[in-house]
Amino acid sequence: MKYKRILLKLSGEALMGDQQYGIDPSILQNYSQQIKELVDMRVEVAIVIGGGNIFRGVSGAATGIDRVQGDYMGMLATVINGMALQSALESAGVKTRLQTAIRMEQVAEPFIKRKADRHLEKGRVVIFGAGTGNPYFTTDTAATLKAIEINAEVILKGTRVDGIYNSDPEKDKNAVKFNSISFEEVYKKGLKIMDMTAFTLSQENKLPIIVFDMNKKGNLKKIIEGEDVGTLVTI
Ligand code: UDP
Repeated sequence: MKYKRILLKLSGEALMGDQQYGIDPSILQNYSQQIKELVDMRVEVAIVIGGGNIFRGVSGAATGIDRVQGDYMGMLATVINGMALQSALESAGVKTRLQTAIRMEQVAEPFIKRKADRHLEKGRVVIFGAGTGNPYFTTDTAATLKAIEINAEVILKGTRVDGIYNSDPEKDKNAVKFNSISFEEVYKKGLKIMDMTAFTLSQENKLPIIVFDMNKKGNLKKIIEGEDVGTLVTI
């Protein structure tokens, strides 16, 4: 096993599947099965999930909602997604805990690092909701921050594409994929993987990132087993 403790970042948008909004239950089921495979291998799995399928602060601001208010709405959206993922995982027989950066004791524990560690050691999947708890940040930054705090060895960023390309593969059929790339090269080439806050935080803390296609079943397991899947960003 290449990694013992990972942080999996799932985008909210991916949860929509082919829908325009909300959560596609078949995607949740697919993700839960893949995550279960890791838990069965005794990998310690922490998850940060986005909220873009429900609400984004920036889009809200365009419709007249105050940016800070919209960002808090976005953070609450990540909790809704976290609860949905938690249910799907529990239905698949995986033990979970949801911890949030904004207190809401009736539905989740507050984020407590030592508790998160303990849950992970016991084989529970820990989902972190409500991002960083601060407006003007993203769930990519929350994912990086949490990964560092819990000493995860890597961030696995699940996306719709199977890695990082020299240009957008959904638009350019000649786009070439990198198997691995350094943080420096990502800056030089102006590639967009995460927002700058998240990316710089990863680099400063020497936390590798793997960008991979989460919709392809078996990919997560392959990464844990050390296979070359997606693109590795490293120092
Ligand atoms: N958000 C925030 N602070 C955080 C994390 C998220 O304000 O620490 C808000 C922000 O408005 C963002 C929304 O929550 O647009 C949803 O998160 P994100 O866009 O990162 O989700 P994803 O793109 O992964 O679906």
